[in-house]
Amino acid sequence: MKYTIGQKVTFLVLVLFVYMRSQAQTTSTRNNYVLVIHGGAGTILKEQMTPQKEAAYKKGLNEALEAGNKILKQGGNALDAVEAAVKVMEDNPLFNAGKGAVFTNEGKNEMDAAIMDGSTRKAGSVAGITTVKNPVTAARAVMDKSEHVMMAGKGAEKFAAANGCTIVDPAYFFTEDRWKGLLKARQLDSVKSRLDHDSANTLLKQPGNRDYKYGTVGAVALDTKGNLAAATSTGGMTNKKYGRIGDAPVIGAGTYASNATCAISCTGWGEYFIRLVMAKSVSDRMELANETLQQATGEMIYKQLPAMGGDGGLIAVDNKGNIAMPFNTKGMYRGYIKANGETAVEIYGDK
Ligand code: ASP
Repeated sequence: MKYTIGQKVTFLVLVLFVYMRSQAQTTSTRNNYVLVIHGGAGTILKEQMTPQKEAAYKKGLNEALEAGNKILKQGGNALDAVEAAVKVMEDNPLFNAGKGAVFTNEGKNEMDAAIMDGSTRKAGSVAGITTVKNPVTAARAVMDKSEHVMMAGKGAEKFAAANGCTIVDPAYFFTEDRWKGLLKARQLDSVKSRLDHDSANTLLKQPGNRDYKYGTVGAVALDTKGNLAAATSTGGMTNKKYGRIGDAPVIGAGTYASNATCAISCTGWGEYFIRLVMAKSVSDRMELANETLQQATGEMIYKQLPAMGGDGGLIAVDNKGNIAMPFNTKGMYRGYIKANGETAVEIYGDK
């Protein structure tokens, strides 16, 4: 069959058009990265914050965003970006993770952390560790260098030391502010246990008295290859009992990532997040009930969590780059950065 010159030109133009469109799409996928972080939810009230303290928190959040952004901008992995962002917050004494972790009832710092790769759904976590400078690096080592998912206590510390994590004296984690927090929590908890239910609730309703124990750091990211990852690290809840483990290192509760849906890192009253299997519930609602990220996270944080009596929030990014940062506490340290340079850090809520 013979084609006229006109037909040949039309065909070539068509091929060129289809090629250019596919290139444009690849470029937009390639450029579409997002990093979201949190530095814990709780009673964070503007009236109780000084301008200096507020600036210090915002600086800390921006430094964490920048650490992850540097990696994502160069086409690096979501997994490396979330680990880097979390490490910066672990090193910052303002946040309840690594240096600045809260104290247990016995006056110790026992930390939990987790990391998950949405592309392989490999995960690693550590619980109740006291000597690893950056717990998230220990979680990463468990994921990358062992056949296990979760390691706890002395064994996890031994494994972290053998796999290149920096080990410090437990005294490294001490901060004056957290120590004062423990003294306040001990006092409140002992008063609470002597009150009847209603009086205890009244006491808890006073600003700072209900979720005075919270804090945690976390990061979620979508990288330029379309892979998702999540990481969470925490000192847990102030005045927690020896050996208590929160939701952060429990895969599916405080931390989860799957390329099929989203990446999530939670913060709040861990016991409720474990019982709600929070992060995986959000993912399941998206995958099985076809909900959007906003619908699924909203249902869990604004309805199911308070209905059970819990507080907290989460950060999430889905595989298209949509983000959600819902919380039902007064505030949540949070921030995000996108490939197009759009960035923000926030502290308070509107209630
Ligand atoms: N979820 C953490 C825990 O229960 C604490 C927090 O996020 O503030 O250990």
